[in-house]
Amino acid sequence: MPDYDGVDFLRLDALLSDEERLARDTVREFVTREFLPQIQEYVRQDGAFPMDLVPQLAELGLFGANHQGYGCAGMNNVAYGLVMQELERGDSGLRSFASVQGGLVMYPIYTYGSDAQKEQWLPALAAGEKIGCFGLTEPDFGSHAGGMITKAVRHGDSWVLNGTKRWITNGTVSDLAVVWARTEDGIRGFLVETDRNGFEARDIKGKFSLRASITSELYLQDVEVPEANRLPTAEGLKAPLSCLTQARYGIAWGAIGAAQACYDEVVRYTRDRVVQGGPLAGKQLTQDKLATMLTEITKAQLLAYRVAQIKDAGELHHTHVSMAKRNNVDIALQVARAARDLLGANGIVDDYQAMRHMMNLETVRTYEGTHDVHTLILGKEITGLSAL
Ligand SMILES: Cc1cc2nc3c(=O)[nH]c(=O)nc-3n(C[C@H](O)[C@H](O)[C@H](O)COP(=O)(O)OP(=O)(O)OC[C@H]3O[C@@H](n4cnc5c(N)ncnc54)[C@H](O)[C@@H]3O)c2cc1C
Repeated sequence: MPDYDGVDFLRLDALLSDEERLARDTVREFVTREFLPQIQEYVRQDGAFPMDLVPQLAELGLFGANHQGYGCAGMNNVAYGLVMQELERGDSGLRSFASVQGGLVMYPIYTYGSDAQKEQWLPALAAGEKIGCFGLTEPDFGSHAGGMITKAVRHGDSWVLNGTKRWITNGTVSDLAVVWARTEDGIRGFLVETDRNGFEARDIKGKFSLRASITSELYLQDVEVPEANRLPTAEGLKAPLSCLTQARYGIAWGAIGAAQACYDEVVRYTRDRVVQGGPLAGKQLTQDKLATMLTEITKAQLLAYRVAQIKDAGELHHTHVSMAKRNNVDIALQVARAARDLLGANGIVDDYQAMRHMMNLETVRTYEGTHDVHTLILGKEITGLSAL
């Protein structure tokens, strides 16, 4: 692995505290030393994640890193964003693992859970001793999750759940599924231990994207959970959507990491690659592409950094995150495509990173609110009229 120093044209580094820099550099080193040497092997499998790294990810405080207490690292949102950036520099699958565990499983328990639920699950999830997944999407309801069919029916002190959830990250390796289901009173969230009778998870194979990540389908057939497993203060669709805002915030930073990886790789490559008697990097068309990549990465960094400041000030609105997720994933995909192009034929093999990131970013563009859905969220914020 060549040394990697990140991409920092406008010296954002100077704005960071020592703790923020340390968090970033520690994860950067972990990704270079521990993760990247394994990624090719995992990408060549069909939906597998290096689970042996989970204890180290936990040791680094990367699960629920921006939460306080319960064994969480208590990072501010700049440090949290930077570690997501570094994880996704490795692979979107690595960042997805941390996003789901922290933003989609720990966050709802932290925010909507009872004291007993927090005590039972949060320390074990932070320590990576338990793995969780988030079941919102269904085969027929993705962007419009509010149409979900999965039902929870109350029977005395218990609930009985029936339905199917699809595209669920880590479904088959999870101990706990946070399942969102329709009840008589609207949508509610349930903590479903995956060893309960009637619960089954199966992996989805044949993905071109996020190959180093486990994606599953969950089947719930008369799965009974006690009332104590319902998230007591999660009411309506706004509860799962608030979890998605947390995870999307990490994506807005993570996408920058993927873009930086592609940019770093292609700058090195074009310097060494000789075409028509000179380095590819010396050609005007190449420099146009590199200048655009660097400018877009820099703009994305400034956007993410400002959203982090607003989040730390407690003034975050979900539309801020929509703008950052929408823009940063979009530019990362453009950077990855341009990098793949400059790598020529070499760009289509997994000895190079660009095409892997490019394929991953197709998922990142779709999940956690598609690019178009975030367009419409921003459109509503601008005009006051919902086109969704
Ligand atoms: C690898 C992977 C991992 C995932 N992990 C999880 C997970 O852990 N948990 C979970 O719950 N879900 C997960 N998802 C699901 C993801 O959140 C959904 O795929 C996403 O919400 C989009 O839903 P959909 O795929 O049904 O697409 P659709 O909603 O069918 O969208 C298809 C197209 O229609 C467009 N569209 C939708 N609505 C409108 C509109 N009103 N106007 C114009 N265009 C519109 C979309 O932008 C998109 O281009 C994952 C998905 C993937 C691929």
